[in-house]
Amino acid sequence: MNSDWVKGSMGIRENIAEVRRRVGEYAREAGRDPGEIALIAVSKTRTPQEINEAIAAGVTDIGENKVQEILDKRDALQPVNLHMIGHLQRNKVKYIIDKVKLIHSVDSLRLAEEIDVCAARRGLTMDILVQINAAQEESKFGVAVHEADALVREILDACEHVRVCGFMSVAPFAENPRDARVWFGQVKGVFDAFRRVSHERLDVRHLSMGMSHDFGAAILEGANMIRVGTAIFGERHYA
Ligand SMILES: *Cc1c(COP(=O)(O)O)cnc(C)c1O
Repeated sequence: MNSDWVKGSMGIRENIAEVRRRVGEYAREAGRDPGEIALIAVSKTRTPQEINEAIAAGVTDIGENKVQEILDKRDALQPVNLHMIGHLQRNKVKYIIDKVKLIHSVDSLRLAEEIDVCAARRGLTMDILVQINAAQEESKFGVAVHEADALVREILDACEHVRVCGFMSVAPFAENPRDARVWFGQVKGVFDAFRRVSHERLDVRHLSMGMSHDFGAAILEGANMIRVGTAIFGERHYA
């Protein structure tokens, strides 16, 4: 048996318990109910065996950032909700439209329109989040905070088979993770503003923010969906 695999996978259950313990701590600090914070285990580069171990330990939702990885792994997985969290090319929407529960990374009307066309063809309504790049980092996808309002309204107008369920953001890396709070706070502002808007295809309930190094800061700013990879599965090794 491959000893690396045994070593690498042994800690998954313990790591999940530790992440949940820390979620509880930050929720208490924020005066929030930890039960309202959904954990998405980010399984990019991980084997189906590792992912199934996380599922056996209670993970109900996993996130992938590549269409190909979703297609390659899904048949080998125990029942689990799949989330598309990475940049999505329009020509690949058709492959995942009926396989994922939520697309977190919608940052253009053109992408939303393609999702709409594919969803209509399948006779379904696709739940999406609009990705916000609060710090306007060149290296990251997402619309600016001030562009989010217009994009959501365009999507609601144009896409009858798309339901906007909230917002997603990736903060700039900060040596002190609490420095990310300023960016998360801005996205929370957009989330709160849209919670007051009423529309039949607007159901703003997910605020997807926070990764392994900064999920605490995200929880303090109101995130209710965190996307955690490394803290669950260990360091990633890209081939
Ligand atoms: C990889 C990834 C994560 C998880 O990152 P970790 O630092 O491993 O927790 C979260 N969100 C997105 C969009 C990612 O691509």
